[in-house]
Amino acid sequence: MKEHVERVAQWIVDSKRVVVFVGAGLSTESGIPDFRSPGGVWDKYDPGDFDFGRFLSSEKSRQTYWRMATEMYDSMKNALPNAGHLAIAELEKLGKLDCLITQNIDGLHFKAGNSPESVLELHGTAMHVTCLDCGKRYERDEVQDRLIKGENAPRCLACGGILKPATISFGQAMPERETAEAYRRSESCDLFIVVGSSLVVHPAAAMPVVAKRAGARLVIINRDETACDNLADLIIHDQAGPAMAAVLTRVRQLLA
Ligand code: NAD
Ligand code: ZN
Repeated sequence: MKEHVERVAQWIVDSKRVVVFVGAGLSTESGIPDFRSPGGVWDKYDPGDFDFGRFLSSEKSRQTYWRMATEMYDSMKNALPNAGHLAIAELEKLGKLDCLITQNIDGLHFKAGNSPESVLELHGTAMHVTCLDCGKRYERDEVQDRLIKGENAPRCLACGGILKPATISFGQAMPERETAEAYRRSESCDLFIVVGSSLVVHPAAAMPVVAKRAGARLVIINRDETACDNLADLIIHDQAGPAMAAVLTRVRQLLA
C-alpha cells in the first residue's frame, strides 16, 4: 500500500483540479452502515420501500418509510467524522480540493470541516426535511421530535402537504444544480479520487467514467471491487480512513 499512497499523494500535489467522490463506505468507520456490505441497510430493509413512487402511493408506505428513515437518522445524528472525512476536509484547507461530490446524506463532511461551497450533495441530506407541496424546509430534529411524540407520517405545518426527508429516493429526480455542477467538475478535473463507493448507483456512478474520458487520472480507494476498477489508474483495496490519512500525511510532507 505504501507505494500506492506515495503515487496518489504525488498526483494530488501535481494536479490543478482534484475532485473527490465518495459513497457510504467512507462513513462505515463512523458507525453508519452502507447499503451493500454484509450487515448493511439492504440486509435489514426492502429496497422497494425506498422507492419514491411507493412513498407517494399510500399513507401506509409513508409510515414504513419514516420508520426506516428514523432508525437510519438515529445512527447518523450523533456520528462523528472519521480519519477519512478529516483527511478530505484537510485537503480543502490545503487548497487541494476542487470539490467533493458526495452520495452520502449523513452531514459528516460538514462536521469534519468542509465548507458548504466545496460539497455537492448528490443525494440530498438527512439533516433536513422538505414539504413536497410548498417546499418549506424543516430541521430534521424538529420533525424527529414530532415522530417521537407519536406522529407516523408527519405533514407540513404550513400547507398540510406530505413531508419527506430531503434525501433523494430511488425514482426521485436528482437535484438539478448539484448534478449539473458535479458533471461539469468531473469533466474538467485532472485527478478524480473515488473513496468508499461500489459505483453501481446511477447517475452518480457515471462521474468517474466522465472524468476518465475527459483525460483525468482515476484513483479508487475502496475495500471491495467496484464497477469501475477496470478504468482506474490506481486502486487501493483497503479501509478508507487509514488509507486517506496516510495519503494526507504524505501530501503535507510534499507540500512543506
Ligand atoms: P454501497 O453500499 O453501494 O457501497 C459501499 C462500498 O464501500 C462497498 O463497495 C464497500 O466495499 C465499501 N466500503 C465499506 N466500508 C468501507 C471502508 N471502511 N473503507 C473502504 N471501503 C469501504 O454505497 P454507495 O456506493 O455509496 O451507494 C449507495 C447509496 O448509499 C448512495 O446513494 C448513498 O446515498 C446511500 N447511503 C448513504 C449513507 C450515508 O450517508 N452514510 C449510508 C447508507 C447508504
Ligand atoms: Zn407545505
